[in-house]
Amino acid sequence: MKGNRMNFIVLTIFPEMFNPFWEHGIIKRAIDRNKILASAVNIRDFAQGRHRTTDDRPYGGGCGMIMKPEPLAGAIRTATKKAPLAKRILLTPQGRRFDQGVAREFASLDGIIFVCGRYEGVDERICHNLIDDEISIGDYVLTGGELAAMVIIDAVTRLIPGVLGGKDSAEKDSFSGSVLKYAQYTRPRTFEGVDVPEVLLSGNHKKIEEARLESSLIRTFLKKQDLLENRSLSAEEIKILKKWCRDIEKIIHDQSIRGPDALSGDQ
Ligand code: SAM
Repeated sequence: MKGNRMNFIVLTIFPEMFNPFWEHGIIKRAIDRNKILASAVNIRDFAQGRHRTTDDRPYGGGCGMIMKPEPLAGAIRTATKKAPLAKRILLTPQGRRFDQGVAREFASLDGIIFVCGRYEGVDERICHNLIDDEISIGDYVLTGGELAAMVIIDAVTRLIPGVLGGKDSAEKDSFSGSVLKYAQYTRPRTFEGVDVPEVLLSGNHKKIEEARLESSLIRTFLKKQDLLENRSLSAEEIKILKKWCRDIEKIIHDQSIRGPDALSGDQ
């Protein structure tokens, strides 16, 4: 059963990277309002020896250093004692791809323990018993897992009930209904010769909602068509798409009566 507050614990050799992250914007507000608990723990505190070494050369040779398993295991076990129900996530470019669906999945968890790799990554044996999931934020390689942890914490936190100001802000974000967010405007009414669409100034909420839905559909169609293909459309959305079809047919028809040259793009 999910407790009240999401507990984010980040295991890293650079915990100070998180201080400015916890202290700004929505994350700070979520901490202040007790919606989330957030801490960054230094993996080095669990390392042995005078130098508290957290990395070593790879068995079998090769370039770079590997994060040693003992400090990581100590840090993960200690974090698990603090947050027994938390999911233990290794950040790695080889993991399951993070997206809005995964963010929603994580928003219902009790907590997340993030393991941030550095150098060439972590000793493989860490994944055997101490990791529940492996997550990547995209098909590129970062120098460490810290930025990936921040990306995930940010995206998940805004989905936790009561974190955002407006009660439906997150519900209307891009991807929430599998479409992108509509075009948005604020003051001034005219900027560098471009006006805010008249309908947004009309005060007619029904018309504004319709215009926003159409704007969402246009942007999704032009920028991420696959999102439209992979969802079931509402009756209202189908009505808008059919209207576009009729408008496009009309443009083609008007061209055709201007002569065959006008349609040379067909050939
Ligand atoms: N040698 C590793 C490989 O090819 O899979 C990459 C290691 S990377 C330089 C160092 C650390 O950054 C990784 O252990 C991981 O924690 C983090 N990292 C890099 N790219 C990432 C990504 N796309 N998503 C999540 N974490 C990433």
